[in-house]
Amino acid sequence: MSVELSAGLSAERQSKASVTVIGLGPMGQAMAGAYLDAGYAVTVWNRTAARADELVARGAELAPSAEVAVAANELVVLSLTDYDAVFAVLESVEAVVAGKVIANLGSDTPERAREVATWLAERGAGHLTGGVQVPPSGIGSPESSTFYSGPVELFRRHRAALEVLTGADYRGDDPGLAQLYYQIQMDLFWSSMGGYLHAMAIAEANGISAEEFLPHAVATASLVPRLIEFYAPRITAGDHRGDVDRLAMALAGIEHVRHTAEASGVDGALPALLAEAFGRAAEAGDGAASLSVMVGRFRAAARAR
Ligand code: NDP
Repeated sequence: MSVELSAGLSAERQSKASVTVIGLGPMGQAMAGAYLDAGYAVTVWNRTAARADELVARGAELAPSAEVAVAANELVVLSLTDYDAVFAVLESVEAVVAGKVIANLGSDTPERAREVATWLAERGAGHLTGGVQVPPSGIGSPESSTFYSGPVELFRRHRAALEVLTGADYRGDDPGLAQLYYQIQMDLFWSSMGGYLHAMAIAEANGISAEEFLPHAVATASLVPRLIEFYAPRITAGDHRGDVDRLAMALAGIEHVRHTAEASGVDGALPALLAEAFGRAAEAGDGAASLSVMVGRFRAAARAR
């Protein structure tokens, strides 16, 4: 750190393990808090400075600018909404980024992770992509997990610091990999949560409370892991026999859901999307195949566009 940029930060911090956290939404606040709990000297910066108040009261140092925050430590954790925000911050710290390791733990696409990594490499900085798999309440717990990718030597060097936040699941060198794993998990997550909220809307429209639906919702959700375990080896083997389920049945079933939603005064667009995809596959001749045939059909539909 240059003398000028370090002037605002206290000298005592240099003897402790230290980290900078930029972005103090619920996630960044939990992360900075976990570092404070672990005894780190924590420098924070946030666009809206007031969000640092509680952390400062607990001992974090609020840097007067993102540039000072980045200059303060080798390891800089970013917890920002998306990579537009990441670039907005990085462009403002370009002059001090050389030699830093940016652990970029927000959500965005694999392509954009590669872009950020390249931008940083061109300026002499390292980049680790992270995809955090838990809500803020899971930060600080070793049972929680974050996907990481990027240069293995950077990951090894900072692994202990990253593991203050969650367990670390290193996926490989390609900076896009952690986001890829994160986004396929989130695909499953958002569909599941969307399904629950949509089902709950139909339930509520018909006078069934969240508590009444709860045991049934949990029972159905508990089936999903077993179904995934059943389908995974068949998908790998390309075995889409319709011996236990048929796409034609799934199409009829999802149409029943759509009609029940619409008759209840609930938007049927969510089940209609699946009905449309299943319908196209059935028309193309897959009606007697297993639902698992959709893995290939989703890809074929994208190629046809
Ligand atoms: P929020 O969107 O609530 O907060 C993100 C932070 O980004 C805020 O500090 C905000 O600053 C900052 N920010 C946004 N745009 C800009 C910008 N243009 N320039 C500077 N700063 C900006 O997100 P969360 O804290 O909930 O999550 C952070 C990341 O972690 C996200 O990518 C999210 O997808 C991911 N994540 C979140 C989980 C969760 O449950 N919350 C779970 C797993 C991953 P300001 O305060 O000024 O608005």
